[in-house]
Amino acid sequence: MRALRAAKTHLFTLPRFVSPATAGPNRLACTAPPEKKNGPSMLRHLTSKIKATGPISVAEYMREALTNPVTGYYVRNDMLGADGDFITSPEISQIFGELLAVWIISEWMGAGRPKDLQLVELGPGKGSLASDVLRVLGQLQSVLNGASVSLHLVEVSPALSRLQAQSLTGTSSHEAAGEDEPVYRHGRTAGGLQVFWYRRLEDVPRGFSIFLAHEFFDALPIHKFQRTKRGWREVMVDIDPDKPGQLRFVVAPSPTLASTTLVQADERRDHVEVCADGGLIIQQLARRVAEEGGAALIGDYGHDGSKTDTFRGFKGHQLHQVLAAPGSADLTADVDFSYLRRMAGEGVACLGPVSQRTFLKNMGIDTRMQVLLRNCSDPSTRRQLISSYDVLTHPTKMGERFLFFGLLHLSRLAKPKMATGLKLEKKSPAQLSVAGFTEMGFC
Ligand code: SAH
Repeated sequence: MRALRAAKTHLFTLPRFVSPATAGPNRLACTAPPEKKNGPSMLRHLTSKIKATGPISVAEYMREALTNPVTGYYVRNDMLGADGDFITSPEISQIFGELLAVWIISEWMGAGRPKDLQLVELGPGKGSLASDVLRVLGQLQSVLNGASVSLHLVEVSPALSRLQAQSLTGTSSHEAAGEDEPVYRHGRTAGGLQVFWYRRLEDVPRGFSIFLAHEFFDALPIHKFQRTKRGWREVMVDIDPDKPGQLRFVVAPSPTLASTTLVQADERRDHVEVCADGGLIIQQLARRVAEEGGAALIGDYGHDGSKTDTFRGFKGHQLHQVLAAPGSADLTADVDFSYLRRMAGEGVACLGPVSQRTFLKNMGIDTRMQVLLRNCSDPSTRRQLISSYDVLTHPTKMGERFLFFGLLHLSRLAKPKMATGLKLEKKSPAQLSVAGFTEMGFC
């Protein structure tokens, strides 16, 4: 996710182009950096764990550092934005969410306009993407033609869920009474649309759903494996005997369950990262899409099974050593889309990955920019619009490194339907017309 963060530092001062509809208290300030308060306690927790049971896997280290219910990085922080540790496309420009909304409507139409539409977002951050999507859906009521839309957010962080609730539902949301309730928060948007919060995808009700996961998979724990003369060995995290209070990587002396089950027999690389949790989630998404209908759109920094060591940390928009001050920095690894495709199986159609530049251009970002610029005379807002467009699409910024991957119901392969209500027009012949993945002209 954050391969570009260090290089992108100069871009982080970019203010978001805020339309009157999204202005207001929904863009909240970040909390103070938590390191001094919480970093050391996470380190203490990890060192006592390692002392008790031996070195831990990188996946366990990452899971604890990011999502430990008490001291995890995501659980306590608002880390997104200029004052935080990293910034994401929905935070850079509202055009991003607007184009994803068009994708959602296009897929809903392609599926035959079902009466009920569940929008499900995994890891919604500040809620900006969902908020931009809902604004467009509100404007396209005539296209939705009375369909019943609900929003379902899968969020592990209570702190972020409060930010999301404020942004999406104002003061109308309330927390569930019991700690174990599958829906831990519920609210309504100003337009009356219901919003539900869950800790796990399993808890989201069944039914036709469009899933969005933006910069979510890269935050899931990865296992790391090293090829050695004696075969594949798992990389583990241990206490550094020479530097008390510091952690180091070690290679397990013998095979672990993970090293014997997660590395492909024909693997050619010498070092691999496998996100088993991501594999399980994509399997769940694929099963739901196959059984209930719908689609999933996944956007993340990633590769197609070619990269090796991509594990890295970010703090204050700078690269951060992954084993230093755990719990105080974001940890991330590029998403292996070839692994996700393999785990999705044959029950769904997989599209992409295609670059963010290709995806957004296919979705009509250039036309949308022209419309916005035509209606905007303020020079500073025009500059913001142009520079955020540049960050999202330029090949050396987010344009090429950021990828989009889709899961569709197999019926979309058999019977391609054009989203005529949106006036999308296919430009080039392709087996399957899917917005974003196929070149479209907007008329
Ligand atoms: N999608 C947002 C935020 C990305 S940051 C954006 O693009 O701006 C990652 C998000 O995933 C955060 O909201 C974080 O709290 C959430 N998250 C991380 N691990 C998670 C997990 N295991 N289950 C649910 N949410 C998780």
